[in-house]
Amino acid sequence: MSLPPLPYGRQEVLEEDVAEVVACLRDDFLTQGPRVARFEEALCEVAGARHAVAVANGTAALHLAVLALGLGPGDTGIVPAITFVASANCLRYAGADVAFADVDARDGLLDLEHLEDTLRALTDRGRAPRLVVPVHLAGQPVDMPAVRAIASRYGAFVLEDAAHALGATYEADSTVHAVGGCAHSDAAIFSFHPVKHITTGEGGAVLTNDSRLYGRLMDLRTHGIHKDPDRLTRPPEDPFVGPWYYEQDALGFNYRITDLQCALGTSQLRRLKGNIARRREIASLYDSALGEAPLHGRISPLRRHDGRQSAHHLYVVQVIRRDGEALADLARRRRSLYDHLHEKDIRVQVHYIPVHWQPYHRSRVGDLQLPGADGYYAASLSLPMFHSMTVADAERVVDALREWAVRTA
Ligand SMILES: *Cc1c(COP(=O)(O)O)cnc(C)c1O
Repeated sequence: MSLPPLPYGRQEVLEEDVAEVVACLRDDFLTQGPRVARFEEALCEVAGARHAVAVANGTAALHLAVLALGLGPGDTGIVPAITFVASANCLRYAGADVAFADVDARDGLLDLEHLEDTLRALTDRGRAPRLVVPVHLAGQPVDMPAVRAIASRYGAFVLEDAAHALGATYEADSTVHAVGGCAHSDAAIFSFHPVKHITTGEGGAVLTNDSRLYGRLMDLRTHGIHKDPDRLTRPPEDPFVGPWYYEQDALGFNYRITDLQCALGTSQLRRLKGNIARRREIASLYDSALGEAPLHGRISPLRRHDGRQSAHHLYVVQVIRRDGEALADLARRRRSLYDHLHEKDIRVQVHYIPVHWQPYHRSRVGDLQLPGADGYYAASLSLPMFHSMTVADAERVVDALREWAVRTA
């Protein structure tokens, strides 16, 4: 008897979500209606930010944030080498250059020392770094107060790629901060792709506390068009001006999200707390198994940091490197674990291939030596982790891991 395939991530859509979407279909607005603002308000409440701009997807959110922060040709932004390619591509869309910072091989998060070295090297070469894009990989927050302090020394903005971290928190100055509250950044983005914590099919959002940035994001989402009487270049008494009149003063896009999508998103957001709690439960189950024979010393979870509560978007394990083991041999053992799990229809994934390895980016930045990213990549594998997963599903994964560990001892 073969068990059904177990993906690494999967959305959960309940009847209550369906009902909200159907109600929207029967209403007046499919797009540009009241459900968009309602979803944005709900996001602000969850994350503790003043403003949210919901858009077509997380990549569009990154693109708009980079543009709204004013980056363009001649500017450089710094991105960790381990992330989804969109974190880097958003800079290129704006014509800016990407510099890659290394990550810690044990948690995949920005290596702060290397970040500072990169900022200094760019500054010394007269290429002012304008932006740092920390990525809360797998859902664990980066040390945001430290990132903010380092970026500020070099006059750089901070844009959090929080696609993995809706619902994550961190402590700083005896306060618990929700990721997306932008306490230590200029803006943060989320994605609502079906593998993320909540879904709108495709969707994303930019959060910020900066009202000027918010205004620019709102304009750029809709073609760069506005009707703000204070900014119109023609006076209201002009006979060619009327209630219909608008002006386009920047080159914007149609990056809107629909009311249908926001109906789904608002409904899903109501279950975020339970979603995170279930993920935490699955994570503890994996943690305990990895702390015992035969897995202990063979496969480890990512390093966790005190005072930071992961949103557990991914549960990444690492095959532990043997003393003196070549990276290629470590990568071969990771492959054997990947194959073993796939044979059992447990569809683990690898997050992520170092972005500077991608031919597009390599052709621009050359061959970089980023040992943290290389070490992280060779060892890592994402186990199944999603809201609707059962304890039995997680035990099935653990059994398969144990089998591999015993067979390859
Ligand atoms: C999913 C994701 C994105 C892009 O989001 P889309 O909604 O798929 O465009 C960006 N960065 C990271 C780290 C992601 O995981």
